[in-house]
Amino acid sequence: MKAKALPVAIAMTTALSSSLLVVSSFDNQAQAQETFRWKMVTSWPKNFPGVGQGPERLSQLVEEMSDGRLTIEVFGAGQLVPGFEVFDAVADGTAELGHSASYYWKGKAPAAQFFAAVPFGMNAQEMNAWLSYGGGMELWNELYDDFGVDVLVAGASGVQMGGWYNKEINSVADLDGLKMRMPGLGGEVMSRMGVAIVNMPGGEIFTSLQSGAIDATEWIGPYNDLAFGLHQAADYYYYPGWHEPTVMFEAIINEEAWAELPTDLQAILRTAISDVNQSVLDEYTARNNDALETLVNEHNVELRRIPDDVLAQAREHSAEVVGELAASSELATRIYDSYRAFQDKVEDYHAISEQAYYNARNPEGDTSQ
Ligand code: CA
Repeated sequence: MKAKALPVAIAMTTALSSSLLVVSSFDNQAQAQETFRWKMVTSWPKNFPGVGQGPERLSQLVEEMSDGRLTIEVFGAGQLVPGFEVFDAVADGTAELGHSASYYWKGKAPAAQFFAAVPFGMNAQEMNAWLSYGGGMELWNELYDDFGVDVLVAGASGVQMGGWYNKEINSVADLDGLKMRMPGLGGEVMSRMGVAIVNMPGGEIFTSLQSGAIDATEWIGPYNDLAFGLHQAADYYYYPGWHEPTVMFEAIINEEAWAELPTDLQAILRTAISDVNQSVLDEYTARNNDALETLVNEHNVELRRIPDDVLAQAREHSAEVVGELAASSELATRIYDSYRAFQDKVEDYHAISEQAYYNARNPEGDTSQ
C-alpha cells in the first residue's frame, strides 16, 4: 500500500518554519473536514451470512472511527455490478472498494488463485502468517499493480467442507461421470479424476442440485450450506475440504481513490479491514459448529469422510495442477516459490504444535464413521 502523505507531513513539521507550520495546521483542519463517500461492491448477496457480514462491519467501523468523514455504501452482488465484475468495477473507479475472492479473477491473472485457495495448501492461520509476515501481501499487490488496484486481506472461511453428494463415494471409481459444481484449482483436480465440472454462481446451486442438473456441489461449510438448504437437495455431506483449506477474501481498493485519502483515513481503513479479516473467520468458527449439529441432529444429514484413496489421488493431481499454474508466468513462479517455501516451514512447525496438540487433545481423532 502506498502511504505517500506521511513522509511529506513529517518533512513539513520537522523542516519548515513556524509560519509555514501554521499553514500546515490550517491545511490539516481543512483536510479533517473533508468527507469521502465511497461505494463498495461485493461478490456476495447483500447481508449474506459470514462473508457478506464482513463488508457491512467494515462500513460501520469506518464510519464510527472516522466520525463520518469516510462513509462506505455496500452493494450486494448484482446491485451495482454483477458479482463476477467486482474487480473491473474497482479498477475502473465505478466503485472505490470491492470485497471478493481472488480466484474469481483467474481469467485476468491466473496466479491470483494462489491468494484465495490452494488444494492441500495453507489454512487460514498459515495464510495470514504468510501474507503478513512472509512476503505474500507484497506479491499479491505486485500482481494487481498492472490493474491500478491495491489489495488487503479481508476475511477467511477456514477449512471448508468437501461438499454435498447425492450418492455415497466409496472409491475414485464412484466419481466417474459425476456432475459437480466446484470452482478454482479444486475443480480442475476433480475433472482429472473423472468428474464433469460445472461452474455457476452460488445463487444457482440449490436448484441445480435439487433438479439433478448436478449430482454434487461444494459451497462453503455448515453455516452457509445450511442457510442455502443444501441438505434438502443431497443426503451425503463429505469432509474435509481438501480443495479449500480456507478461502481468503480480499478488500480491493482503487489506487487513485486510495491516494486521495488523508493518511489518518488510510490508517482507519487499513485497521478496519484488519478487524474484518479476523471477525469473518471467527464468525465461521463459531457458527459452523452449531450449524453442523443442526444438519446432523435435526436434518439427519449423513456425514462422511472422503475415502483415503480419493484423497491420495486428489493430492497427486493437485500437485500437477498447482505446478502447472506455478509455471505459467515469471510472477506466478515467484509467488508459488514463496508460498511453497512458507508452507514447508509452517508444516514442520505445525506438525509439532497445532497437529500434535489436536492429537493430544483428542487421541481418538475422527470418530464420525
Ligand atoms: Ca467453497
